[in-house]
This record gives sequence, C-alpha cells and structure tokens, in this order.
Amino acid sequence: MLEKLKKEVFEANLQLVQEKLVILTWGNASGIDRESNWVVIKPSGVPYHKLKARDMVIVDIDGKIIEGDLKPSVDLPIHLTIYKNILSAGGVVHTHSHFATCWAQARKPIPCLGTTHADYFFGEIPLTDLPNTEDYEQSIGEKVVQCIEKNNKEQCRAVLVPGHGPFVWGKTVEQSVETAFVLEKLAEMAYHTIMLNNGKMAELEDKYLKKHYERKWGKDAYYGQK
Ligand SMILES: [Zn+2]
Repeated sequence: MLEKLKKEVFEANLQLVQEKLVILTWGNASGIDRESNWVVIKPSGVPYHKLKARDMVIVDIDGKIIEGDLKPSVDLPIHLTIYKNILSAGGVVHTHSHFATCWAQARKPIPCLGTTHADYFFGEIPLTDLPNTEDYEQSIGEKVVQCIEKNNKEQCRAVLVPGHGPFVWGKTVEQSVETAFVLEKLAEMAYHTIMLNNGKMAELEDKYLKKHYERKWGKDAYYGQK
C-alpha cells in the first residue's frame, strides 16, 4: 500500500541525515496521501542506517495503524494535527538542526535579514506558544497550527517551538525537506550576520522582502522556468 509515498518518506528521512539536519534519531519526516487521508511516517527510535522503506508506518488521520510492524514516531500526533488543519500540507518535517534549534532555544524568531531568506519565507520565522505537558505532542501540534494560521498560513511554512526546535511543512515531503534545509542555512546566516553587526539586527527592507517573496511564490511569480 502507498509504495511510492513510503519510498518518498523513507528517502526524505535519509536525506535529513545526509544534509546533516538530523543526527541519531533527532527528527522525523512524514507524507500524506490526500485521497485516502493516510499518513506515512518513520517508525520511532530506529537508527537511520537500519531503516528500510518497508519499515515506514502507515496510519489513518486519527493515528490508527493501517500497515506496519513498528511503532510510529512519537511525534505522530504533531504531524496529524498539522495535516488535519493545514489542508495544503503534503509533507511535514521536524528536526533539531543546529542553528534553527539554537534560535528556538534562545526563544527568538529568526529575522529576515536578506533576500536569501525573502526568497523562501515572507518575513521572520515565528515562535509558537509553549505547549502543555498533558497530551504533550497533541499540544505541540495545536501550537504549531495556531502559529501557522496566525502568520497567514500558506506563507508560513516553518515555525520554531520555543526551547525545542523547528517544524516545517510543504506541498510534498520532498519540498518539506528542502524547506528544513533552507531554514537551517538561514538560521546560520542570521546568526553570523548579527555577530558581524555586533549584535544588531538590520532587517531587510519591506519592499525587498515583498519583491523577493512574490517573484517566487506570489500569484504572478516569474522566478524559474514556466
Ligand atoms: Zn523534537
């Protein structure tokens, strides 16, 4: 069942390790098949070098296991809450990538300091509210969704959970991995830029933010090939 999506989700998880966004088992990627509303996710706590495409777990939108012998990622409720509320999400990625996690731990949104950032995100990468510890993963999912909705949904494809790390989504699982990779690079660039500026933030002017974001993602986008 869902062999193609299982392969995509498996490869996405491996790519997170190859791109050094994930070490040990500090992260997870999932994808959803919107026809059946079934979600494919990495199993919990299996070392990446032992992971096989057939180990991917298929669950329904409420988390009931449809196929798979292993327990799904413990973060499954976060992924499901995002899929239930952000209907254009086809993939979700969570990592503890170094620089993005440092910003989350410093409890600071990542500011947009240049056009590299504006090409991907419309403004800063926001912080969610803190989750409750009862129904912990469910609560993280709710805080992530609230933050995405508050920040204009389609334009907000990455958020930081304070003291924890980044959650990103995309139209596909492959796109979500790319977004996680870009986010990490931007987090690193922002850190170094602020250091060079002796701790001061010089945010990109709104007109350049708008121009760069819209030429790539706006309704009259003209970046790339038709
Ligand atoms: Zn985590």
